[in-house]
Amino acid sequence: MDADVVIAGAGPTGLMLACELRLAGADVLVVERLADRTGESRAGGMHSRTLEVLDQRGVLDRFLAAGELQPVGHFSGLYLDFDESESRHPYPLMILQSVIERLLEEWAAELGVRVRRSCGVSGVRQDASGVTVELDTVPTAQTAPAALRARYLVGCDGGRSTVRKLAGIDFPGTPATMTALIGDVELPDLPEEYVWVRRCATGDYSAIAFEPGWYRVITSEYDRVVDRDEPPTFEQLRESLVRLAGTDFGMHSPRWVSRFNDAARQAARYRQGRVLLAGDAAHIHFPAGGQGLNMGVQDAVNLGWKLAAVVRGRAPESLLDSYHSERHPVAERVLHNTRAQSALARPGPQTDALREVFGSLIVLDDVNRQLRVMLTALDVRYAVDGDHPLTGRRVPDAGLKTADGATRVFELLHAGRPVLLDLGGSAALTAIAGRWADRVDLVEARSEDDHWPVPVVGEVPAPAALLVRPDGHVAWVAAAGARLDTSALRAALTTWFGPPARR
Ligand SMILES: Cc1cc2nc3c(=O)[nH]c(=O)nc-3n(C[C@H](O)[C@H](O)[C@H](O)COP(=O)(O)OP(=O)(O)OC[C@H]3O[C@@H](n4cnc5c(N)ncnc54)[C@H](O)[C@@H]3O)c2cc1C
Repeated sequence: MDADVVIAGAGPTGLMLACELRLAGADVLVVERLADRTGESRAGGMHSRTLEVLDQRGVLDRFLAAGELQPVGHFSGLYLDFDESESRHPYPLMILQSVIERLLEEWAAELGVRVRRSCGVSGVRQDASGVTVELDTVPTAQTAPAALRARYLVGCDGGRSTVRKLAGIDFPGTPATMTALIGDVELPDLPEEYVWVRRCATGDYSAIAFEPGWYRVITSEYDRVVDRDEPPTFEQLRESLVRLAGTDFGMHSPRWVSRFNDAARQAARYRQGRVLLAGDAAHIHFPAGGQGLNMGVQDAVNLGWKLAAVVRGRAPESLLDSYHSERHPVAERVLHNTRAQSALARPGPQTDALREVFGSLIVLDDVNRQLRVMLTALDVRYAVDGDHPLTGRRVPDAGLKTADGATRVFELLHAGRPVLLDLGGSAALTAIAGRWADRVDLVEARSEDDHWPVPVVGEVPAPAALLVRPDGHVAWVAAAGARLDTSALRAALTTWFGPPARR
């Protein structure tokens, strides 16, 4: 075998997955079609849950240092107030995708991930023991082999995923109804500091300064669908802005130009035997509300520890099916909310009226909160056995006191290992944990707070104990004052981390 896992694509999803797999002890090889990172800015931000997962791994500071926190987000261009504290990181971080990719690749290198560039996946064959990955190597990488052998292949190769097509996985959904052009340009004649979603007769445009002197211009034109294979040009962006705004504001010196639309599609299955899909390869949608990169990173954090456990023989292959059953509904909901945002963005007096009505609702606290926790994915709850309000949700980053000085829950997850957190000093828990000691860390601590904040639910009393998966989701809870259900704990440990070690 050349690696336990080959990942196709060194975008944000592929790099995050590679880091998660390495942390959990799997040998990973990333193959990337391009010779170098593109430097394209694309995504402009990361939401709270993504900041949390980076915090869970102890690398958040690098990203915070390279971006800027903003107190607002938006739903179809209508501002949402993010100044609330469901999370220790309640604000979106404005940071360009090119910077995110650089930071992830640096972290991956520190962890020992191998990245092989100028290698595009062009063929896939599965058999009982593994997968053969055929590669197209461009002249700069003539030394690379034409095929690799691995236990699993994960397609993180973007919306037009070759891996998805080779695995024969359907990609149903709705086609594009509009065309958007995006470019980083100089804009000397813009009379305002910035323009945010200026609505016009046939669409809208925005011009936002991402760096001093440089603007990100986005034009959206509805009922105008361009052939996806036609390369976007600066001249097209200029003409589009003139059609919408009546001027090009003296636009010149493009850094890059790209095109997107509101097609919304999702892979029918996230796993086909030894081939899995994550990120844009598994789902595409209108990039409204900034959710695509975030969702890809969170797919990776859900899949990484499961796939590593399977390749290391610590969990049955069936654990991988929970990746589809947990993450498919998350993307389904994002496709749904981006279709709603796309409908709310269409030009015309009816939509103007709808936006006005919606705009008067969005300022209400409950509506603002509902949309905020949906866009940030802080409210995601997986179908995990148990009826405690924390079960299946991401664990809150509560303040703690432990013997070795950890001060909050996320610090316990830096190693990417599951944690059985004992907040009540239970001897029974210690005895059970001993059987999984090779895979699960038992941590005894005291909660600093009597109540923990939980999005959607409100506050819950600090529990007596809880089992936290490496992705930060809660697999089992013992409520404070309740009888310790040890058989439920054993079942949860076995489901997620395999059977106990032999005595
Ligand atoms: C204008 C715009 C704004 C956006 N803003 C946001 C935002 O603010 N927040 C947000 O969360 N998301 C945003 N997104 C979405 C975000 O850019 C994508 O969701 C994100 O890039 C997906 O990451 P990925 O790693 O899954 O795929 P990609 O970034 O597409 O990476 C795929 C990688 O695979 C490589 N590859 C392709 N084919 C092969 C092959 N056969 N073999 C090997 N490698 C291959 C590609 O070269 C590429 O490097 C935005 C998108 C656009 C267009």
